[in-house]
Order: sequence, then structure tokens, then C-alpha cells
Amino acid sequence: ANQNKTDIGLIGLAVMGENLALNMESKGWNVSVYNRTVPGVEEGVVDRFMNGRAKGKNIEGFTDIKDFVDSIATPRKIMMMVRAGSPVDELMEQLFPLLSPGDILIDGGNSNYEDTNRRVKLAESKGFLFVGSGVSGGEEGALNGASIMPGGSEKAWPEVKPILQSIAAKASDGTPCCQWVGPAGSGHFVKMIHNGIEYGDMQLIAEAYWVMKNLLDLNNEEMADVFSRWNEGKLRSYLIEITANILRHKDKTGGYLIDKILDAAGQKGTGKWSVINAMELGMPLGLIATAVFERSLSAQKELRHQASHQFPRQHTQPIYNKVELVKDIFSALYASKLVSYAQGFAVLQRASDTFGWQLDLASIARMWRGGCIIRSIFLNDIAAAFEATDKPKHLLMAPYFREEMKASLSGWKSLVAEAMKEELPVPAFSSALNYFYSLTSADLPANMVQAQRDYFGAHTFERKDELRGQFFHENWTGHG
Ligand code: NAP
Repeated sequence: ANQNKTDIGLIGLAVMGENLALNMESKGWNVSVYNRTVPGVEEGVVDRFMNGRAKGKNIEGFTDIKDFVDSIATPRKIMMMVRAGSPVDELMEQLFPLLSPGDILIDGGNSNYEDTNRRVKLAESKGFLFVGSGVSGGEEGALNGASIMPGGSEKAWPEVKPILQSIAAKASDGTPCCQWVGPAGSGHFVKMIHNGIEYGDMQLIAEAYWVMKNLLDLNNEEMADVFSRWNEGKLRSYLIEITANILRHKDKTGGYLIDKILDAAGQKGTGKWSVINAMELGMPLGLIATAVFERSLSAQKELRHQASHQFPRQHTQPIYNKVELVKDIFSALYASKLVSYAQGFAVLQRASDTFGWQLDLASIARMWRGGCIIRSIFLNDIAAAFEATDKPKHLLMAPYFREEMKASLSGWKSLVAEAMKEELPVPAFSSALNYFYSLTSADLPANMVQAQRDYFGAHTFERKDELRGQFFHENWTGHG
């Protein structure tokens, strides 16, 4: 019955879907593609693709969803690359009556992990399998190798593994950046944290750029050289590499393009989701939160413009040793990045414990080494730290990173102090430093918070003397 049938179906021929279909075809898979037809549009999306980039390839295009489903070999594998949210539910409802038991739906969009939890249950209740998979790497990754984070119905993994791993990026040691993540919505949760970390990395690099520009007066070419140099060392990563390229990029009308781009950042929501979910889990994710809030504050351009006139900067214009300060910026960037990853992985661990996902943090770190936006060599060290027989309680306490933090601290704190004195914002560098100081404080002033809570709200407090473990309410005012 499977004669002349294709290996996989793909729905949604926007940027991601088109490139994933071409990637699959180039790895030897026969692909069926489908996109809904918008009435009134003469040459539909499918025709455009079939007469364009898909021409002469082992790709079959369909504008009828039943014909599309019938063209795929069973158990069918159907990957959806449509707009996240209700379109995925609508598509599932259309597909259910057309599928056979054991067929597999793969949602490769940026879906909310709670939606995926629900969809896995729904699909399984109807006898189908459902995989919620984060896909990172944008257009380029979709075509040439992405980081793919699948989770959901575990029985689907042996079926989809050969295809998904073939289209995934390969890390430098050859392992595909696609491994089974865990049950339910865990794949989309991991993708969400990936995107949150991406927000953090970008904000940290932006602060490094801003300090070089404003405290050191480096020009774009000089800054590009610094980033290029950093890209040969421990900070080697895709985002550092593109930062150097961006700084060198000339504008058609003269000068550098970076200097003509409005300083108001957009956002699509995955950073915000990471922070909301960390809060739900009771876990600190301050660096990513800072990155999200800085994008929001940057977008208030007019307000900042007015405020800047009411509070003019007090410049002391000290003379810096450029070489030394660039080293300090490196330390601040590196240590803050470590803090961000430590926070992110701690959220993953907490989610794993809370939801019973049994996430393998080392495997996740390895999956992020290639294909995705946060790819870097630094993720090798993170994977190694989580693989150690003596598993660290916290990433910063893994022996290797403990030494790295100690080595970075002096440059990091002097850079933050200097920027604060010069009234230059470094919110992510300083958020990370404050987190580090709190984390490494045996005592914190939370005793005062507990006393206040008990004073006004009778919330009780635990004692730390020989009565530790017991909760008390004090009659603070001596009344009744
Ligand atoms: P997109 O703009 O997010 O989605 C457009 C696609 O969804 C089109 O094929 C569109 O069909 C289809 N669609 C929308 N509503 C639909 C509905 N009700 N029923 C059926 N199809 C519907 O496209 P994208 O940028 O390629 O992204 C696809 C998914 O991957 C998204 O979840 C996105 O968040 C995720 N993602 C994107 C990137 C990226 O770099 N772009 C990276 C990673 C992940 P029509 O053509 O008919 O409108």
C-alpha cells in the first residue's frame, strides 16, 4: 500500500517550511508539501514553490489536504510549520479524520509548551502520536541544518529520528544537534529556554559594545576587531561572529549601517514566556528578565529622549588603559553569560523535577552546539560539567566553572563599578553580578522580609537557632 508514497509530509510553506522541505529532499527523502489555499489568490503558495525552488526535486505539492495525506506512506509523518497558536489546533482538527492509527504529527513551530502538553494527550486519545519539536536556526538552519528539540509521544522517536537527525546540524564531533528531549511539551519548553538565553546573550553583547563605544571611544572597525579576536577564544559563538560582521557593515548612503538603526528593540514573546514560566516554577531567571525589560525600555524611545534632557549625564571622562578595560569587558561578558546559562539550566532542571520529564541537561547542551542561534564552543564545557560523575548542584559550582568565575570576578566587578560611576547602563552585567553575590552569600536580609510578612500578615517565620524547622508567629505590637 506504501508503493509510490512519500516519506514525510510538510504543512506550511512559509520561510521555515519551504527550507525544511528542501533540506529533507536534499537528504534523500521524498516529501509531500501542502499549504492552505487562500481564496482569490491566483497562483497559490504551493504552485509558486513547485514552479520555483522545488522544481525538478522529489517534492510533491498538494492544495487538497486529503490528497496530501493519502500521498504519504504509513505510519505517516506529518510536520506542521505554521503560525503558532490556533492554526495548529485548526490543522489538527482537519487532519484527524484523514489519519490512520499510529500516524505521527510533528509540530515544528514555536508553540507554547502547555499547548503541546494538551495536544499530545489529544492526539494520543485518538490513536495518533504527537511530537512537539522546537526548531532553531532560522531560514539558514532550516535549509542547511537546524538544532531540533523533539519531545512528546516517545513511541514516535524511532520513526522520526532518521529524518529529523538527517536535517539537523552536526556539531564539530559529528553528532546531530537533534536528540529526544522528553515527554509532553518538554521539547517546546527547552526551545523556549533556548530563546530566552538568546535574548540574554544578545543583551550582554550589546552592553559590551556600548561600553567599548562610550567609555573607550572605540570606532566600529576597532570594536569589530575586538569581537573577531574574542571569536577565536572562549567566547567563540555565532552571535559574537555576526556582531563583528554587523559592526563592519557599510551603509549604501555612506557610513556604517549600525549607526543608522533606531535603538528600539522588538520582541515576539519567547523571552517573556521563559521569564513567566521561571516565575511560575519559583526560579530566578534575572538575566533573561533584564534582557526582556531592556527591550521594552528601549522601545520607549520618545520617553527616554525627554528624560535624557531632564537628567543630563555627569561625565568625568577618565582616561582608561584600553587594553585593560577591554579585558575587563571580556570578563564581564564571559562571567555574565555563565550566570545566564546557569540560571537557564537551573530552570530546566526544576521543570524536569516538577513535571517528571527526566531531562538530560548534558544532551540539551550538546544539541545547542550547532545549528541554533546560541551555538558556541562554550556549550561543550557545559555538557562536560553536567556529564561529570559528581553532578554539580549548580553550574557555577562545577569545578571548571568555579575557577572561571573566580578568574573573571575582579575584571567583571571593576567594569560594572566603573560603568555605574560613569552613569552608563549595564543592566545585564550588573544583574548577573548581583545574582552571583546573592548566590554566594550564606546570609541574606530575607530574615527582615520574613519578619515584615509576619508583622503585617501573620505569615509566620522559621527560626534559625536551635528551634530551626519550627514556624512561629510573633505578637510584634504587644497588643491583644
Ligand atoms: P509563520 O509566518 O510563522 O507562519 C506562516 C505559515 O502558517 C504559512 O504557511 C501560513 O499559511 C500558515 N498558517 C497560518 N495560519 C494558518 C491556519 N489557520 N491554517 C493553516 N495554515 C496557517 O511562518 P515561519 O516564519 O515559517 O514559521 C513557522 C513556525 O516556525 C512558527 O511557529 C514560527 O514561530 C516557527 N519558527 C520560525 C523561525 C523563523 O526564523 N522564522 C525560527 C524558528 C521557529 P498561509 O500562507 O496560507 O498564510
